[in-house]
Amino acid sequence: MGQQLQWLEKNETLGMDIARFFKQNNNSVVAKAFGKLAIEAWIAGGDVDFQNKIIKDSTFVGTKADCVYELLSSTNNNLFKNVLSTFTNGKAQFELKFRIGEVPDGADGSTTFDNNTGIITITFPQIINAKSSIEIASIILHEGIHGELRRIYEGKNQVSEPLPNNQYEYLVDLWDYFRGISPPSKVSNNASHTYMVHNHVLPIANAVREFDNNTYGIDYYMWFGWQGLSDIGKITYPQLLTSSQETNYINLQQIPINDSIKQSCDE
Ligand SMILES: [Zn+2]
Repeated sequence: MGQQLQWLEKNETLGMDIARFFKQNNNSVVAKAFGKLAIEAWIAGGDVDFQNKIIKDSTFVGTKADCVYELLSSTNNNLFKNVLSTFTNGKAQFELKFRIGEVPDGADGSTTFDNNTGIITITFPQIINAKSSIEIASIILHEGIHGELRRIYEGKNQVSEPLPNNQYEYLVDLWDYFRGISPPSKVSNNASHTYMVHNHVLPIANAVREFDNNTYGIDYYMWFGWQGLSDIGKITYPQLLTSSQETNYINLQQIPINDSIKQSCDE
């Protein structure tokens, strides 16, 4: 704590941000715990999104992915707001953190949970910053949903904005099912991907379309929703994604990615 106090004295503006945040949250224990994490992040060169109560690691701050994150936030993207608002307001017992780092299996991102700190960490590979803004937006949303499902599962649905009971039970059933057949490191991913196939493909596609100023019809954005989920979508019964739909969506996706319409983060 000594180091933190010293640091606060030298960083008056950030100190005032913290003070305002404490006041808005009535100096709650959760708010104070978040304040401590925030100062630790600042000392390490990171940043804090107080509105969404999200910590940005120093590896994430100032990257293109950070720019897209801020753009999703400032344009009030509906899915982004829904997914991230649940970590807001000192209500949540879990914290969300974004970083850039190693991600296993060449995936677009990975979401992990630390039992001891209650921190859900979303890691993106460095290569995310070479993608277009709309691709980055879809990855942030996809991983954000992993974070949200993790929050609900680990919090046993005794959380702010819980799932309806039957949906929560389905989520738990998936976790139990995959615990029986998957290596431990894959359980959460497989369970949440299966859940997402049934609940989030269209919402992600819609959100990316919204982020792209509704430039094209929804089919042009469907692959943003299916990315990372298509293998499961093709083996569900009834089948949720056919091979010809897959080919069609992959082709259509190239149009918004490669057109001349740019977001401010692409410049
Ligand atoms: Zn995923």
